[in-house]
Amino acid sequence: MERKKQNPTAEDETQIISRRIQRISLHITPIPRPLHDHDNNLGLLPCATREKLEVETEKLSVYMRGKYRDMQEKIYEYFNARPELQTPVEISKDEHRELCWRQMYGLIRETGIRPLKYVVEEPAKYFAITEAVGAVDISLGIKLGVQYSLWGGSVMNLGTKKHKDKYSEKIDSLEYPGCFAMTELHHGSNVQGIQTVATFDPITDEFTINTPNDGAIKWWIGNAAVHGKFASVFAKLMLPTHDAKGVSDMGVHAFIVPLRHFKTHQALPGIEIHDCGHKVGLNGVDNGALRFTSVRIPRDNLLNRFGDVTRDGKYTSSLPTINKRFAATLGELVGGRVGLGYSSVGVLKIASTIAIRYSLLRQQFGPPKQPEISILDYQSQQHKLMPMLATTYAFHFATVNLLKIYSQMKRTHDEQLVGEVHALSAGIKAYVTSYTAKSLSVCREACGGHGYAAVNRFGTLRNDHDIFQTFEGDNTVLLQQVAADLLKQYKEKFQGGTLSVTWNYLRESMNTYLSQPNPVTSRWEGVEHLRDPKFQLDAFRYRTSRLLQSAAVRLRKHSKTLGGFGAWNRCLNHLLTLAESHIESVILEKFIEAVENCPDASSRAALKLVCDLYALHRIWNDIGTYRNVDYVAPNKAKAIHKLTDHLSFQVRNIAKELVDAFDLPDHVTRAPIAMQSEAYAQYTQQVGF
Ligand SMILES: Cc1cc2nc3c(=O)[nH]c(=O)nc-3n(C[C@H](O)[C@H](O)[C@H](O)COP(=O)(O)OP(=O)(O)OC[C@H]3O[C@@H](n4cnc5c(N)ncnc54)[C@H](O)[C@@H]3O)c2cc1C
Repeated sequence: MERKKQNPTAEDETQIISRRIQRISLHITPIPRPLHDHDNNLGLLPCATREKLEVETEKLSVYMRGKYRDMQEKIYEYFNARPELQTPVEISKDEHRELCWRQMYGLIRETGIRPLKYVVEEPAKYFAITEAVGAVDISLGIKLGVQYSLWGGSVMNLGTKKHKDKYSEKIDSLEYPGCFAMTELHHGSNVQGIQTVATFDPITDEFTINTPNDGAIKWWIGNAAVHGKFASVFAKLMLPTHDAKGVSDMGVHAFIVPLRHFKTHQALPGIEIHDCGHKVGLNGVDNGALRFTSVRIPRDNLLNRFGDVTRDGKYTSSLPTINKRFAATLGELVGGRVGLGYSSVGVLKIASTIAIRYSLLRQQFGPPKQPEISILDYQSQQHKLMPMLATTYAFHFATVNLLKIYSQMKRTHDEQLVGEVHALSAGIKAYVTSYTAKSLSVCREACGGHGYAAVNRFGTLRNDHDIFQTFEGDNTVLLQQVAADLLKQYKEKFQGGTLSVTWNYLRESMNTYLSQPNPVTSRWEGVEHLRDPKFQLDAFRYRTSRLLQSAAVRLRKHSKTLGGFGAWNRCLNHLLTLAESHIESVILEKFIEAVENCPDASSRAALKLVCDLYALHRIWNDIGTYRNVDYVAPNKAKAIHKLTDHLSFQVRNIAKELVDAFDLPDHVTRAPIAMQSEAYAQYTQQVGF
């Protein structure tokens, strides 16, 4: 509010009048305003202007935090208080494996945390635990994931009451450390191609597990090389028949197989275990290879939720076909994927925090005869890091949403949700982990030579995270599941079926977006228009709709000559782009919702800025696609570019607050170059000064 003076002078009067005229003129200025209104700001040297939003870090942080922060803090405190359990920079494979085991064992036994209980009852809490332990050491996060999500999760989700009663408590307390043995030397992505067999013997009421050839050796099995006592082994269930074949293949099922003796820890008879050796990263996890030779297990060890064998050797299942049973079995395992996407965002938060804090601290060059400037004031550095920071926020809200619908699915078993979570978890896991993997290199490079010192963490983060792109489903394979699902929905739309919630936008978009782009809106270039969530979301969805429609047309055309498989392969890159485009639409939609739902005005303004940067940067990256069909006129494209630059700069001005709001404890970012207050002191000490 302006405070009025007692006796205004003539000069004051003139100022007041001119201000009034200005205000009135604002009312009659047509909105959206053209971008060049802002040119003065855009033209300024970044280091010379300090246009800055006020952000209350604590409030933003509270909004981001979620309800399991206490649990995460308990984990951080546990490790903070035990320096002997922190992973040193230099450590051998064997020491790292032992340390990782002690970290997990100590955490479970001393804090009373029981992750398996949460896997089943409160998945979001379980994922908060894995995020926190992954921040301590990614190997520990994965080791814990193998024990609870893979081994424990397979027993709880594929087994029935008898299995839960017998195993759950002992898995939770780590009395029964175990593995998840699905992948074989010759088959990873193609799980239906695995060759290990479990043949029922009606005389002894047992299954015999066999590895028929070297290609069927279970490979890469986490926890197998050193610590595992059990494994859930995936094998083809064979039933004896009286025909010429002698057996009938009922498809892939999971079986609980004891691996090692309880007291001596020796491999049990018929089980051969080898070490997969030193890896590119994750050396705290003991991956091993398993061969089975006539290993006998009781019939009860079949995890029989989706298919069972009676005492007299009859197969029973509520699901009629091998394919349906296989889909149901794998469908129960999507939790691992959800968790991996979520943990990957945790890694991205750590890396971007280190790189941004360092870039604020580090100064190189500057205007003549003036102090050097922060490297984050270089446009190029902003372009490397600010859209990445915006994307980290976008991923945060997208994975939180995925956790929400996953938890809902576990609670309700709603069939539509099952399908939706399956495709969405595949897409988000693939998209997020690929992005994080690339960003880790960008962060390292953004920190120059110091980024290469192991103590600054990028090396381990990059090496440990890299495999996130492959395990729990190779990203290229997962994206195809998203594309296949989109095409299925597209087909159903034309047959009048219902679309799942996440896909709902396609209903309208197919009709509106596939008509010719609107020649009027394609020329709108005002800031308000470009920052309007409707414009941004429309642009994302328009791209997805076009890709979907053209993919369907191309597939139909090619399948006439190449068959279904050949046509799919001919269009594969197109289909991957389609899947990514759809996932980007979902991510933006969830970000926009998160901005709108934020209760604190200053945090909402900051999030809106970050969300706009995310959206416009993506649109600008794909500007060729939009220009090709005149969805965006040439001047509008320029305006998008300018505004993206401008937003990037504005985000730079609140970058410190934005990374602080991730609320990562210092020992998690643990890179001396990120310790702003002590500058390089800790770093120089570390090398002996
Ligand atoms: C460190 C580590 C830990 C692991 N832990 C476990 C574990 O505990 N338990 C377990 O069971 N497994 C585990 N795995 C195995 C992991 O799940 C598999 O490696 C993964 O599923 C990929 O299978 P693959 O290695 O056979 O790759 P492949 O399927 O052979 O893929 C190789 C390449 O071919 C491409 N490709 C394959 N199929 C297609 C297609 N249809 N279209 C286009 N491209 C295609 C892929 O994109 C990829 O680039 C682990 C692996 C590692 C490295």
